[in-house]
Amino acid sequence: MLPATLKSDFPILGETVNGRPLVYLDNAATSQKPRAVLDASRHYYEAVNSNIHRGTHFLARAATAAHEAARETVAAHLNANSPDEIIFTSGTTDSINLVSDILPLSPGDEILISALEHHANIVPWQMLAERTGAKIVVIPCDENGVLDQAAFVNLLSEKTKILALTWVSNAFGTVNPVREMTAAAKRYGAIVLIDAAQAIPHMAIDVRELGADFIVFSGHKVYAPTGIGVLWGRLDLLKSLPPWKGGGEMIKEVTFESTTYNDPPFKYEAGTPNIEGAIALAAALDYVNAIGIDSIHSHEQELIAAAAAALSEIPGIRLYGPPERIGALSFAIEGVHHYDLGTLIDQMGVAVRTGHHCCQPLMARFGITGTTRASFALYNTMEDIESLATAVKKASMMLR
Ligand code: PMP
Repeated sequence: MLPATLKSDFPILGETVNGRPLVYLDNAATSQKPRAVLDASRHYYEAVNSNIHRGTHFLARAATAAHEAARETVAAHLNANSPDEIIFTSGTTDSINLVSDILPLSPGDEILISALEHHANIVPWQMLAERTGAKIVVIPCDENGVLDQAAFVNLLSEKTKILALTWVSNAFGTVNPVREMTAAAKRYGAIVLIDAAQAIPHMAIDVRELGADFIVFSGHKVYAPTGIGVLWGRLDLLKSLPPWKGGGEMIKEVTFESTTYNDPPFKYEAGTPNIEGAIALAAALDYVNAIGIDSIHSHEQELIAAAAAALSEIPGIRLYGPPERIGALSFAIEGVHHYDLGTLIDQMGVAVRTGHHCCQPLMARFGITGTTRASFALYNTMEDIESLATAVKKASMMLR
C-alpha cells in the first residue's frame, strides 16, 4: 500500500463535508489536485504568463519553452516516438471530436465501437456516420460487462474502417484487451482510436507497444486541471490527414487566396492554447511518476478488492463488472434507488457518483437507469473503504 500521508499532498482532502472528513471516491469523474500541480499553475501565472510561439521577449520565450517541455513530458510518459505526436486539446471529448471530424469515410463504411463506451466515444462517431452515410456497429458485452471477443472477431470485415474503443470502462471498471483487439482490427486495415481516459491514472501506457493510431485522455482524470487533454496520433497520419480548426498557429502562410498548413502538432492547435494547463499536466505526470504508476496500480487494486469484498456482504447488492475491474466499482442494491443512496452517503461524508455515468446504452443493456459508483485514486486509503462500506450498509438499511 502507498503511505496514507500522500493525502496531505492534496489540500482539498483536508476539507470536511457535513462536519466529517471528506472521503472522496468520485475519482473517475475527476481527480483531486496535488500541491505540486496547484503550484505549477500558480507559478505559471505569477512568473511566466505570456502568449507562446510568436513573441521574442523574455516571457514569451519562457512560456514557449515551458509549454514545449510539457509536450516532451507527455511524450516521454506515453513512450511516444516524438513530441510532435502529442496534440494538446481540452480533453478526451475534444480529442475524439478532432479525430472524428478529420477521418474520411464513405457510405457503407463501418465504425466499430463497444457496448461499454462513454457518450464521448459514441456521439462524435454517430455524427460522422450521419455526415458520411457510414454505419455504427456495436461490440456486445456479457452479463459481467466484458466484451464478447467472438462477436468482435465476427463483426470485423473489410468494411470496418474505424475501431473506437475504451481501454477501461468508466462505468464498470472493465479492462478491455486493447492490444489484441487493436491487432485484430489492424488486420483489416482499420484506424484504431483508444479512449484512455480511465486508463491514464491507473496504468502505464506505451503507445508504441499498443499499435493503435490514436490515443486520447483528459488531464483532469490524472491529477491535472480541467480544460487540458491529449491526442496522441501516429505522425504519418497526422501529417496526411486534413487540418481541423482553422486559425492562428496552425498555418505556415496565409494569403487571401490560399493557406498552407503547419506541421503536426501545431497543425491541430489553432489559437492560443491552454498553456498553464499543459504545464500543470506535465507537473501531474511528474508527480505520478515520482510515486510510480505500478505502485499506484497495485495500491488501487488492493483498495478496489477490499471494497468489493466489503460491499458484497450487503444483502441485495449486485456488483457490476468483472472481478478484474480497475479504478471503478459499480453497484446497485435491490429496492434502493442509486440517487437516494448517493445522497444519503454524501451526508455521511462519502462522495460517490450515481446515475448512468454517461453510458446510457450500457445501462439500457442491463435494464437499469444507473448505478452507484465508487472510484479510486492514489490518495485513497483502507479507512476510506471502511467509511464507504459502513455508509452504504447504514444507508441501505435505512432505504430498504
Ligand atoms: N471517456 C471516458 C471513458 C471517460 O470516463 C470520460 C469522462 N468521464 C470521457 C471519455 C470524457 O472525458 P472529458 O469529459 O474529460 O472530455
